[in-house]
Amino acid sequence: MDYVYGPGRNHLFVPGPVNIPEPVLRAMNRNNEDYRSPAVPALTKTLLEDVKKIFKTTTGTPFIIPTTGTGAWESALTNTLSPGDRTVSFLIGQFSLLWIDQQQRLNFNVDVVESEWGQGANLDILADKLAADSAHTIKAVCIVHNETATGVTNNLVKVRQILDNYRHPALLLVDGVSSICALDFRMDEWGVDVALTGSQKALSLPTGMGIVCASPKALEASKTAKSVRVFFDWNDYLKFYKLGTYWPYTPSIQLLYGLRAALDLIFEEGLDNVIARHSRLGKATRLAVEAWGLKNCTQKEEWYSDTVTAVVVPPYIDSSEIVRRAWKRYNLSLGLGLNKVAGKVFRIGHLGNLNELQLLGCLAGVEMLLKDVGYPVKLGSGVGAACAYLQNNIPLIPSRI
Ligand code: PLP
Repeated sequence: MDYVYGPGRNHLFVPGPVNIPEPVLRAMNRNNEDYRSPAVPALTKTLLEDVKKIFKTTTGTPFIIPTTGTGAWESALTNTLSPGDRTVSFLIGQFSLLWIDQQQRLNFNVDVVESEWGQGANLDILADKLAADSAHTIKAVCIVHNETATGVTNNLVKVRQILDNYRHPALLLVDGVSSICALDFRMDEWGVDVALTGSQKALSLPTGMGIVCASPKALEASKTAKSVRVFFDWNDYLKFYKLGTYWPYTPSIQLLYGLRAALDLIFEEGLDNVIARHSRLGKATRLAVEAWGLKNCTQKEEWYSDTVTAVVVPPYIDSSEIVRRAWKRYNLSLGLGLNKVAGKVFRIGHLGNLNELQLLGCLAGVEMLLKDVGYPVKLGSGVGAACAYLQNNIPLIPSRI
């Protein structure tokens, strides 16, 4: 029974948690099992091998942790750093702010590089800081690949280039919570030392699983890192990996089978096709926003996100009212503006197991909402612009060719 019933399906367009596809729901609809039986380690072994593919790594070591993105952050930090270590971290929106707050509370010496919300990480300042750091006091560069609050994607290739230009040994820690499995992400090629994601985003699973992947350099750093960690200690996992039983504690059987099904769906579509689909969803959404005469919170094209679009409303409109009405009138769930951009933007999440026609339903809803709150939108304008683009660009469904 829904807590508050609405007819038809809820159009879930928050940028996580996202829709869970039927095969995944069915895979999770099962009894508990003895995780010490041979079945669960056998399943886990396939998962650990296969999650490496979504990070595009062959050398990384993955950890599947019963936690959320926030716990995955903590796992990345506490296993690789010691209290007092200097990190460079970019503040560009609510999630990078929260990660910085966590770094400060864990007693790292955080060198915050702030940009206006709607802009990407200021990489010129990173270059200056690395250039001035011949003593290598900077132990890690921490960056959110895709800032979900503003719809900004940072350029990780450039970050790696800058680190390499200065031959700086700092670890590169990347939050891929709203990017991995949706945006192009290449852990090995880009020299990412720890990458992490959460199950409720592009993997389209329930919340509750953080997936962290450590490079050989990060694993090496974990041997001397002095931060206190217990639940998140990679060492405990590695011990059980060696034993072949895999789990230092009781895993969620249902989530493991869900992850198996989610990965199978992604591989059946093809990871590169999944990424291309997100690129179409992002582009179609941006075309609709433009047709409505509204602005994208993301200030430059180079930072456009293909997983979330934050739409700026005119000053006489409260964007929270749009989100409220969306749910009350159209059974549509949109993302609120957070913190500095509260009331100023609403967010359309277009990530996970989602197709173009579903997105068009959301865009149609947004048009009616804009009219509801007194914005002079031409009904059909955004949907038309998105359709015109999609009709020319949607390929045949890979598994049906
Ligand atoms: N990082 C990013 C980019 C996010 O979007 C979020 C949540 O939306 C988080 C971290 C925190 O993840 P969680 O809410 O799963 O702890």
